[in-house]
Amino acid sequence: MKIICIGRNYIDHAKELNNPVPKEPVFFIKPDTALLPKRNPFVYPSFTKDLHYEVEIVLRINRIGKHIEEKFAHKYYNEIGVGVDFTARDVQQQCKEKGLPWEKAKAFDFSAPTSDFVPIKNFKDINQLNFELKVNDELKQKGNTKDMLFNFNQIVAYVSQFVTLKIGDYIYTGTPAGVGSININDKIACFIEDEKMLEFNVK
Ligand code: MG
Repeated sequence: MKIICIGRNYIDHAKELNNPVPKEPVFFIKPDTALLPKRNPFVYPSFTKDLHYEVEIVLRINRIGKHIEEKFAHKYYNEIGVGVDFTARDVQQQCKEKGLPWEKAKAFDFSAPTSDFVPIKNFKDINQLNFELKVNDELKQKGNTKDMLFNFNQIVAYVSQFVTLKIGDYIYTGTPAGVGSININDKIACFIEDEKMLEFNVK
């Protein structure tokens, strides 16, 4: 499986990093080695001094698809979860300055801890979904999917023009404002509609 991540999908987050607001979705891919096995702590990587959390709603693809039309895109996912798109912000900044790809900063081992998935039908409206990230029980990020620049169906349609989506692939759909640094011994917790979906420690 692969993990497709959408960047700059919430205007207030694009602005906090002084990035332009994109006219079409920005995406990159993390390999399956980015998943964090359940109940494992996250080990702070040695190659960065500024590791940022980014909480994101995650779609799980349940049908193979290529060139998916937006009107049919909802048929390609039926579960959602929440995850953290860990980003070595200092390394990413160096990559950006040199015009290089972001993989070193984004795609490293265990950089995508993801919750279990929940059927979409359990939620009233996934296009108005609250989600949050807390560090040591302190609220750091709070988002609502109604603020996405590109909604879930637009993302699925867009990405599938370039990349075949396969059963079990994840799509991270972008982070709201409030990203920041974590430290060793922090406890990270992620919520959808006030329900804790994911929790792990940083070692
Ligand atoms: Mg992200």
